[in-house]
Amino acid sequence: MIDRGGVVFGAVFNDNFEVEHKYIETKENIELLRGPKYVQSKIGTSYRQVKDFLESGREVLFSGTPCQIAGLKNYLVKAYSNLLTVDLICHGVPSPYVWQKYIKFRENKAGSEISKITFRNKKMGWKQFSVSFLFKNNTEYNKIYSNDLYMTAFLKNISLRPSCYNCRFKTLNRPSDITLADFWGVQNIFPEIDDDKGASLIFINSQLGEKIYSEILDNIVYKEVDILDAVKYNSAAIKSPLPHINREKFINDINIYTFDKLVNKYCKDRISIKLILEKIMQVTKKD
Ligand SMILES: Cc1cc2nc3c(=O)[nH]c(=O)nc-3n(C[C@H](O)[C@H](O)[C@H](O)COP(=O)(O)OP(=O)(O)OC[C@H]3O[C@@H](n4cnc5c(N)ncnc54)[C@H](O)[C@@H]3O)c2cc1C
Repeated sequence: MIDRGGVVFGAVFNDNFEVEHKYIETKENIELLRGPKYVQSKIGTSYRQVKDFLESGREVLFSGTPCQIAGLKNYLVKAYSNLLTVDLICHGVPSPYVWQKYIKFRENKAGSEISKITFRNKKMGWKQFSVSFLFKNNTEYNKIYSNDLYMTAFLKNISLRPSCYNCRFKTLNRPSDITLADFWGVQNIFPEIDDDKGASLIFINSQLGEKIYSEILDNIVYKEVDILDAVKYNSAAIKSPLPHINREKFINDINIYTFDKLVNKYCKDRISIKLILEKIMQVTKKD
């Protein structure tokens, strides 16, 4: 797209590590868009900017969550042949307020401001990806996603925006031309291509998507897969996340507890006392 003189919109970190939609026009800046940011991004004035570029005849690639693509299309009203849209399979987006609390917590722990954040560090592999922070005092934080407080809250569905629990875009009929995702479960379907460095899942949703995809085929290693097999291990493609029973308490208490105490209070798996009692009773019955 950039080689053809087009512009590319996507989610970037700003100087305060908030996530917002921006556009880039050079290859050097692609790095800014790369990598998922597990936070709702601010759309800002990007829809208006897209419209201005389209009206001036420039090609535009707009990437974002499926609801952001649908929002853009509603805003534009009419279809533009110079617009390519790319969405993601989206588990849901956490609240930017929760994210701000988390990064302040990390900065306090490190005693320094952040210089870089990566949500998907593959040092330990793609399946065991880690969250990493670099700080201006040259210290580092690195935790496998399942041990990271923010990712725990995200994956337990306690920090998502309310609209995500009833998402209209959990469907295989996508508003975009192309959908990108992680091919979770690839080891069960194509074990021969699973190198734990990451396999993407790509849905081609329109003729334009098909055309663009056919232009890059020489540069990628690909296999076709039945779409229902492909989403077997990625329920976020078709199902909204179930709201966590303590979501409201979590949000209400966010300014009362430190981030670690908050997540430990509401997200820890507790073995139910009822279950333990039932087990004890079964054993005593047998005796
Ligand atoms: C909030 C969120 C939830 C996700 N949930 C799932 C899931 O359940 N299952 C799954 O298979 N994949 C999920 N993904 C997608 C996955 O993490 C990868 O982004 C996707 O596979 C594309 O990977 P990539 O390496 O090709 O591109 P990446 O480099 O990961 O993606 C970069 C692109 O993603 C866009 N992007 C990044 N963060 C955001 C954001 N906050 N809002 C809007 N657009 C953003 C950027 O604009 C950029 O174009 C999710 C992504 C996000 C942001």
